[in-house]
Amino acid sequence: MSAAQESWKHIVREIEKRGATRRPRTIEGPQGTRAQIDGKTVVNLSSNNYLGLAQDQRVKTAAKAAIDCYGCGSCSARSIMTTKVHAELEDALARFKRTDSSIVFNTGFSANVGALQTLLSEHDLIFSDSLNHGSIIDGCRLSGARTVVYPHKDVQALEALLQEQRTENVRLIVTDGVFSMDGDVAPLPEIARLAKSYGCVLMVDDAHGTGVMGTGGRGTVDFFDLRNQVQVQMGTLSKAFGSVGGYIAGDRDMVELIRNQARPYLLSTALPPGDMAAAITSLRILEQEPMLLQRLWENTSYFRDGLAQLGFDTGESVTPIIPVHVGEEKKANSFADSLFSHGVYALSIAYPLVQAGKARIRTIVTATHDKADLDTALDAFAKCGRKCGAI
Ligand SMILES: *Cc1c(COP(=O)(O)O)cnc(C)c1O
Repeated sequence: MSAAQESWKHIVREIEKRGATRRPRTIEGPQGTRAQIDGKTVVNLSSNNYLGLAQDQRVKTAAKAAIDCYGCGSCSARSIMTTKVHAELEDALARFKRTDSSIVFNTGFSANVGALQTLLSEHDLIFSDSLNHGSIIDGCRLSGARTVVYPHKDVQALEALLQEQRTENVRLIVTDGVFSMDGDVAPLPEIARLAKSYGCVLMVDDAHGTGVMGTGGRGTVDFFDLRNQVQVQMGTLSKAFGSVGGYIAGDRDMVELIRNQARPYLLSTALPPGDMAAAITSLRILEQEPMLLQRLWENTSYFRDGLAQLGFDTGESVTPIIPVHVGEEKKANSFADSLFSHGVYALSIAYPLVQAGKARIRTIVTATHDKADLDTALDAFAKCGRKCGAI
């Protein structure tokens, strides 16, 4: 065995010893609120399918029709050839976000990487929240700009850093709108005020905000009414929209620059047309059915209140992402295993996805859970939580 192979083996054994091996469970059917997972029907609290649109018959029909029209694959990068559905989706997203333009990437991950890499260079400065998504972190690295990490949501610390860290060139502040591990929301009005008074560009990643917050699910930027103060809006089609892909929305020139220079856009084959048609249809349904959002928020309050009444610590969550804090990695894993044996699938999340010692069970409530689903889940949390000492 080579030295490299020895070292890989050693790292894996270390992970196994910590009891932190990641073994995704296998789902054998639709990603519903009750799903067939590892041979067992369980309440699914681990899906980003906030509005149930991944299984909506209209969305599936639109995807099939696009496959019948265009075929399965796109067969070239967008920069060479682009289907009508890709263009139609970009128009629909720009209208939805109320911006000039939008550009669709293959994933939310590559949208962040592509945008940051294009809009910034080594002479620039980025101010990034300490709990921002990994794709923002990688985008910052690839941009070559110097990145200053500010403590999570700490506006005072951010202001101090803005006073101290200066450049003649671009300064950009970037934050998640909704944070994916804690379900808390960035203090965008205060950040936007700082961005304005210190002459910074502001970028918001609304992967978990879109289809969830704001009027008609337009996201956190809309929720705080800051459309004209956030120059770069990022979102994904893979969560509430039940499809796949990511996008950047904003003014025409910014989007055009990305379209001409972002490497993940230029060098990667476009998403299949079926997925684009699915996203267009999801957007349309979201516009026509505000009830979906209402149900999502009713379920969110019901479940969060239920967990709080049982004595669980759900941190600063104010969205459908509700963490149940446990602390120790092993404890979180055994909590999750015990939940599964009681018919509930909720993910245990530990280092390196979150800080060491801050392991948690992350739950995600959707519009399509019914009261019986949520009550079953609360019962299981009560039993298993007591068993492993979380309450
Ligand atoms: C999921 C997520 C992404 C990546 O989106 P994908 O479409 O899954 O690649 C980016 N940012 C945040 C905050 C996310 O939660």
